[in-house]
Amino acid sequence: MSNELRNVDVAIVGGGIVGCAVALAARQAGLTVAVLERGRICGEASSVAAGLICGQYDADDGSPLVRLRLAGRDGFPEFAELLESLGGAPVGYLPGPTMGVALTDDERERLLARVAAQREAGFDVEFLEPDEARRREPVLAPDVTGAAIYPDGQVDTHRWAPIVHRAVLAAGVDVHLGAEVVAISGGADAAVQTVRGALSADHVVLATGPWARELLPWVPVVPSKGHIVTFEAPNLRTRHVIHRPAGTLSQRSDGRLIFGATKERVGFDRRVRAGAIESLLRAAAAGIPGLADGTLTGILTGFRPDSEDGLPLIGRDSRSGVMLATGHHTHGVTMSWLTGQIVARLLTGQDPDYPIEPFSPDRLGDA
Ligand SMILES: Cc1cc2nc3c(=O)[nH]c(=O)nc-3n(C[C@H](O)[C@H](O)[C@H](O)COP(=O)(O)OP(=O)(O)OC[C@H]3O[C@@H](n4cnc5c(N)ncnc54)[C@H](O)[C@@H]3O)c2cc1C
Repeated sequence: MSNELRNVDVAIVGGGIVGCAVALAARQAGLTVAVLERGRICGEASSVAAGLICGQYDADDGSPLVRLRLAGRDGFPEFAELLESLGGAPVGYLPGPTMGVALTDDERERLLARVAAQREAGFDVEFLEPDEARRREPVLAPDVTGAAIYPDGQVDTHRWAPIVHRAVLAAGVDVHLGAEVVAISGGADAAVQTVRGALSADHVVLATGPWARELLPWVPVVPSKGHIVTFEAPNLRTRHVIHRPAGTLSQRSDGRLIFGATKERVGFDRRVRAGAIESLLRAAAAGIPGLADGTLTGILTGFRPDSEDGLPLIGRDSRSGVMLATGHHTHGVTMSWLTGQIVARLLTGQDPDYPIEPFSPDRLGDA
């Protein structure tokens, strides 16, 4: 880790997975890069996230947001490989598949409609009748009424922070921890003021997730709190990530189980709400009876960055000249590498090679 603040081509504020992805992609483009992080690398939502590399299991159309998620998902294996080769350890990427499960007649109807809409949009999806669903996934409750199979996967977000940290260091990024940024400017006078001093850069990238407004108050991103629970259940072995309307269960290769998540608008309140945990435990056991005999091993809360219209903000904010990479809400891990690649192309004056107009920061607020 470099302690001296030195001037660079790109100063990235925020060392969550989005800021780190931008840093790695910018290094690949030959730029000098600094990441300024007030806490730890991936110390917030990027390490709380369930780690689903997804976008399809809850998609009912082929909207620009859904397509961005799927493009992020499909490009994610390359990111996992890059993190592993630079970070020197596996990040636990598993390609899936994910099974969406219906337990009532109404849920079956909604699932059939989802499958039809996805086929219409050209997505890879399969519908299973109950017997076939239980044959393929024996941990399911007997009352399953149908299932769908999607190519959504997972990564071990709960263990990846040190690997991501080593990867950005190995790529030659200046990583400054404890470097809370208190002011930024973009354009010709691009600069970052931190509690440890200042540095100037050709470009400033804001990747502070739900805290974007602290530095650019007009950026309409707010925290969306999520609780998740973790379990151990030695006799439970899933073959899929299992998605239910009330939550998703994923199992890491060493057996750890993760179920989540709630979605709440309560500001930056980190307290664990008893009712949230009760509803998660009830929902988890409804679809997968074997979980009720498991041991609850953890409760995590974190803050997703949610924008005014639910779409991420990727591109230059014309009011400040700062490049934004935030607002990824429920799918920020999934979209991180794609976002990094798009931002790196913009920083080097190239075509973004992706239709980013729907995600332009200038579409929102009074920017
Ligand atoms: C419960 C839960 C489950 C989730 N599950 C999934 C999932 O399964 N799949 C998925 O794709 N996504 C999931 N997400 C969403 C995902 O976690 C986020 O979208 C993603 O982590 C956002 O990454 P980020 O880098 O933008 O933000 P963050 O991870 O929040 O990082 C922002 C960083 O900026 C730093 N920072 C803020 N202000 C300053 C400042 N002034 N100076 C310096 N540093 C600063 C913070 O300390 C932080 O480290 C989940 C989120 C939650 C909460």
